[in-house]
Amino acid sequence: MTKPDYSVLVAQQREFFLSGATRPDSWRKAQLEAVKALFTENHDELCDALWKDLRRNVTDADLMDVAYCAKEADYALEHLAVWMEPHRAPMPLVFEPGHIRVRRDPLGVTLIIGAWNEPFMLTFGPLTAALAAGNTAVLKPSEVAASCAAAAARLVPKYFDPRAVAVVEGAVPETTALLEQQWDFIFFTGSPPVGKIIHQAAAKHLTPCVLELGGKNPTIVHSSAKLKVSARRIAYGRFMNSGHICTAPDHVLVWPEVKDEFVGHLIESIREFYGDDPQKSPDYGRVINRRNFDRLVGLIGSGKIAAGGKTDAAELYIAPTVLVDVSLDSPIMQEEVFGPILPVLEIESVEAVIKWVNERPSPLGLYVFAEGADVVERILDATSSGDAEVNDCAIHPLFPELPFGGVGNSGMGKYHGRWGFEAFTNARGVLYHSAKLDPGVRYPPYTKHTLERRITSALTP
Ligand code: NAD
Repeated sequence: MTKPDYSVLVAQQREFFLSGATRPDSWRKAQLEAVKALFTENHDELCDALWKDLRRNVTDADLMDVAYCAKEADYALEHLAVWMEPHRAPMPLVFEPGHIRVRRDPLGVTLIIGAWNEPFMLTFGPLTAALAAGNTAVLKPSEVAASCAAAAARLVPKYFDPRAVAVVEGAVPETTALLEQQWDFIFFTGSPPVGKIIHQAAAKHLTPCVLELGGKNPTIVHSSAKLKVSARRIAYGRFMNSGHICTAPDHVLVWPEVKDEFVGHLIESIREFYGDDPQKSPDYGRVINRRNFDRLVGLIGSGKIAAGGKTDAAELYIAPTVLVDVSLDSPIMQEEVFGPILPVLEIESVEAVIKWVNERPSPLGLYVFAEGADVVERILDATSSGDAEVNDCAIHPLFPELPFGGVGNSGMGKYHGRWGFEAFTNARGVLYHSAKLDPGVRYPPYTKHTLERRITSALTP
């Protein structure tokens, strides 16, 4: 197979970017309208693709991908004028007359590489930010969600000039070839090991990047928590989209005296959501492919099954499964679960929770279920995570006002709403200095007197 070459595609986008066409707010708004139109006019086709790849029901398809992408573009349209406004501030007295200004300049030609679990959110969400900020973009959706990648490749040319937005389909060889090009910015969503490959490739050209990675999100259930509500929200966060959610609760750390009651509520919530046989529920999904199915089946033996455990390879079905009596060295505690299995472990104190979190790689999300701000704030103050939720889990990416992203091993950089606009923007400081006056205090020859005056003046706006 000949190695793909994307130099022409990148050169065309660079020429278009350098023409200045992408900078005006009118162009940006038209692109955001195009994102909105793509997702509203092709709603059913895009939901079908999600059903084919993930057996995703329409409600969740809208929540996480289809309506989500239209809403994200709408939010950007509503706020674009404020985001684009240059910040202006006065100069220190010694430099008057003049002023300083922070421009919001686009970065240029950008590459967006997505993961498969929310195939549209993870490519078109960053695309919205890229276009709002006045960039061009090449999208590389994950080959693993093949129907969604094909839908994106078919629809994007109908809504966008390829010099502004293009889709490259493919897997490792195509991504590797894309990474050989010189980009002005790379936005990657995926696993920490591949994140390191992307970061190394970006380093060759000193290309800035945002890395949206995964990890094991600890979910703490304190003895004071409202147990029924906590169990419902945790079951919802873990089992929607077959557990294929980067912000899903990965494992529960619960106080021993409430563990049995909490697990009882978890089992009840699963029955309430998906019925006695979740395999027949139209709301319950399937595992993306055989490789992940086999991996997840291998994790079920990590503890005692308190709920679920049933699997069906022919349908890639794994029942919503709760494990108890899980040992720390079992396979499920060594890797991100990323599927419909929830291990529940006991923990006895806030200090033990803090030690647990700090001894492990920084998670993408940290969730605390408790009544009483002292427990919550003590844990938040003493730990680190990309983001956090109190008395809820998994849903914070749905709020555009919140910066979304990891820290440490779960990634670098934030996006969504204004945070996405900033990620794709060069905050370019410009000092405007009038040439009409030129007092001598800044120039040599220096005296003690002029030096002191310079410092004092510079500190006085
Ligand atoms: P992945 O890292 O395997 O793949 C992500 C992308 O990288 C795909 O487009 C793939 O084609 C490409 N890729 C894979 N191997 C590559 C290689 N060797 N060289 C170059 N490119 C390569 O991740 P995934 O399996 O698609 O997604 C699951 C992971 O993503 C989980 O860890 C999950 O937590 C994480 N995730 C994070 C977020 C977030 O927003 N932080 C969102 C969703 C998923």
